[in-house]
Amino acid sequence: MTTDTAAQAAYVVAALLFILSLAGLSQHKTSRSGVVWGIAGMVVALAATVGLASRSITASGLVLIVVATALGAGIGLWRARVVEMTGMPELIAIMHSLVGLAAAFVGWNGYLDVDADLSGSLLGIHHAEVFIGVFIGAVTFTGSVVAYLKLSARINSRPLTLPGKHVLNIGALVAFVGLTAAFVVRPSMGLLIAVTVIALALGAHLVASIGGGDMPVVVSMLNSYSGWAAAASGFLLANNLLIVTGALVGSSGAYLSYIMCKAMNRSFISVIAGGFGTPAASADDDEQGEHREINAEETAELLGNATSVIITPGYGMAVAQAQYPVAELARKLRDRGVEVRFGIHPVAGRLPGHMNVLLAEANVPYDIVLEMDEINDDFAATSVVLVIGANDTVNPAATDNPTSPIAGMPVLHVWEAANVIVFKRSMAAGYAGVQNPLFFRENTQMLFGDARQRVEDILRGLDSLDAPVPEMAGTSR
Ligand code: NDP
Repeated sequence: MTTDTAAQAAYVVAALLFILSLAGLSQHKTSRSGVVWGIAGMVVALAATVGLASRSITASGLVLIVVATALGAGIGLWRARVVEMTGMPELIAIMHSLVGLAAAFVGWNGYLDVDADLSGSLLGIHHAEVFIGVFIGAVTFTGSVVAYLKLSARINSRPLTLPGKHVLNIGALVAFVGLTAAFVVRPSMGLLIAVTVIALALGAHLVASIGGGDMPVVVSMLNSYSGWAAAASGFLLANNLLIVTGALVGSSGAYLSYIMCKAMNRSFISVIAGGFGTPAASADDDEQGEHREINAEETAELLGNATSVIITPGYGMAVAQAQYPVAELARKLRDRGVEVRFGIHPVAGRLPGHMNVLLAEANVPYDIVLEMDEINDDFAATSVVLVIGANDTVNPAATDNPTSPIAGMPVLHVWEAANVIVFKRSMAAGYAGVQNPLFFRENTQMLFGDARQRVEDILRGLDSLDAPVPEMAGTSR
């Protein structure tokens, strides 16, 4: 068997392993094996690619490959080991930016180093591939950098609303199509520089225009773009595995974006077009009345007398790493005969499935962790809801206020319960930058402070409820 045939066979094996990986990652139970399949696929792919390259490579080229692989693997291992769960989305966003940058470089290289054997229509196709690859790569690069800046709170997550923003986006797309045609007919560095600049600006503008509440869709959309950017590089490098892998990432990312848009009642087209068709966000983070406060001891008493409790966690639970005391609280209350369930919003936290992962980590039984649709009708018959570090996902403005930036987004109807206790550190708005009228409702009380510390205080409060009352001096039975 020639090296080439062996490498192509290895590519097929790697592609199958990637498909198994995606299948595994689609369910909690099989997600670990999904990761293992993915690692195995990557090892096979890398070995086959290096094997293929080593046929015609110089010693210094081989050294470069080894150094680049070691450097990339080292940085990857280091970041994966130190990243906090709450930092995952921004890490993913910055990684997508690297895929975009690589695709743009591959495109530029394809322009500077054209295969001398290409002629006629094949040369035209090559030039189109270069142009499209650079465009998708550059859009992905700056889009991901802006997403990274928003997710890591280095810039404001509110949508940028430049005058005529849709005209700018459509103008950029029209210019791209026109320039592609011109480049295929007569390629020039000037045209390639022009498309690179337009794509860099378009990527940044598309993501900057999207409001905080829609960021989950943006992350999965950039995941999809990075897949298409890799597939475009695959065409340029005539690498079948890169085409297949890019298409897998591109289509699974697009499908995830579609599912998330459905969960958030958003138009898919609107979100990928940079908020097209959404009303100019009147983000309003002013306080809307008086709020009432409660302390941990009073909360413990309320919970001790409750018959049913629903806990709706959000990003703040992740920040406070409160999942362990929260799991302990659920266990204690259940031991006292209280019905305890968790209500999980599809975009709670900062990445899909964030809350499920944290609760599983703290060994909360799966059967009491319910999705939003499964639990939303039960709030009205619930004694106490504990909103632990959630904000946007429990905001009634989404259902009551058609001018709210999050209008139409399905939310957990926590306000229908008899009592709502909101755990947070201040009256600050949530990720979408919108004030939450829930905090000012009559049945809501705020429990201020770090969620972990407050839940631990409640656990102590519950213990003292159970402690025998010391006998008064001089009393007898
Ligand atoms: P939010 O981000 O809306 O609110 C979290 C709340 O937690 C804040 O109001 C904050 O208030 C509080 N908080 C932060 N730290 C602590 C702490 N240590 N202790 C107690 N409270 C704390 O959370 P949700 O989960 O409700 O909503 C998620 C938002 O993120 C949505 O807008 C979603 O669209 C967006 N998003 C989701 C992604 C996903 O894939 N799931 C990805 C990207 C964005 P305070 O500062 O006063 O304490």
